[in-house]
Amino acid sequence: MWKVPLFDLDLSGEESRAAREAIDSGWLTMGERVLAFEEKFAGFIGVRHAVAVSSCTAGLQLAFSALNIGQGDEVICPSLSFVAAANSVLAVGATPIFADIGSVDELAVTDETIARCITERTRAIQLLHYAGQPCSIGPILTLAKHRGIPVIEDCAHAPGASVDGRRCGAFGDMGVFSFFANKNLTTAEGGMITTNDGDLADRLRLLRSHGMTSLTLDRYHGHAFTYDVVEPGYNFRLDEIRAAIGLVQLSKLEAGNARRAKLELLYRDCLAECTAAVLPFASASGKSVHHIFPILLGEGIERDRVMSGLKARGIQTSIHYPPIHLFSYFRKRFGCNEGMLPITESAGRRLLTLPLFPRMTEDDVNLVSSALKTVLADLTG
Ligand SMILES: *Cc1c(COP(=O)(O)O)cnc(C)c1O
Repeated sequence: MWKVPLFDLDLSGEESRAAREAIDSGWLTMGERVLAFEEKFAGFIGVRHAVAVSSCTAGLQLAFSALNIGQGDEVICPSLSFVAAANSVLAVGATPIFADIGSVDELAVTDETIARCITERTRAIQLLHYAGQPCSIGPILTLAKHRGIPVIEDCAHAPGASVDGRRCGAFGDMGVFSFFANKNLTTAEGGMITTNDGDLADRLRLLRSHGMTSLTLDRYHGHAFTYDVVEPGYNFRLDEIRAAIGLVQLSKLEAGNARRAKLELLYRDCLAECTAAVLPFASASGKSVHHIFPILLGEGIERDRVMSGLKARGIQTSIHYPPIHLFSYFRKRFGCNEGMLPITESAGRRLLTLPLFPRMTEDDVNLVSSALKTVLADLTG
């Protein structure tokens, strides 16, 4: 249907072979493959512990639970994110407090926008490395440390992104990754929590599986005959089939990220002279993994017409993101409205995501770029 879709999978026979081997192994969940995936992922990010979970959303919820965050507590989070950022806070009974982004170039919350949201009820700060570009993490960590508030990095866009050689997911108290179908590394559904804190890792493992003190695998190996339940938990486990796919995908991640970087560079070349669109991250530092390629349309350009113009040319686009605080549930429950987060709202009106994925060709990038320039020229006269 699309000449250039927004995203396409990068799977080969290797993933299906690994999945089949997992099925044929006779052990379907929380076995050797999950352990191997956790160990390899921890090594890749450069942290001591990685805890595999069923999704990033579940991982965020588990992270808040492990910090004993609940009713009456506040978690600062971006509004320019996927709604999971706020839903995971609501899931533990806490209140999301939306921080504005620092600028439409940065597209992420900053120490200054976070500082404005801190109250005596603040129990965590949730960050997003938007589009795979590391946010300005240094000043945020300084602020958080000074105020004694834990930091959770939403790394759904950022597996492999780094600042000064240190990977995203290794800065905060915990990093939470998504392996959903359209992410840089996929297991269809799945996620991972990274941490250097051994106590937190133990707590995460406990809560991931009903607060039970031993795993089915431990009992199979004869390491335990029974179990105790020390607190109520969840079932947020990952299975062997997904872990097997994840191990293959992890081995391909850096090549995929490098390919994305190359394609984005070409996009930036093609669109450099295009005055009707601004390319974000001009002043960004750190190494991005280019999860998506968002651009900012000039003020007053009707985005719907740009999207339908591109659709007519066979090009799929998207919006990352409609700000969370303006969804009807958040307006009704928390009294959020326009004007609350002016920079987020401006970005929310102007952002447009162009296709970007490792299997895209240089010709695809040229096609999208020239189609965009034509559509914008038609609209701006
Ligand atoms: C995809 C995504 C999530 C949710 O991930 P799931 O694994 O689908 O739960 C959360 N935050 C951001 C920014 C995302 O892009």
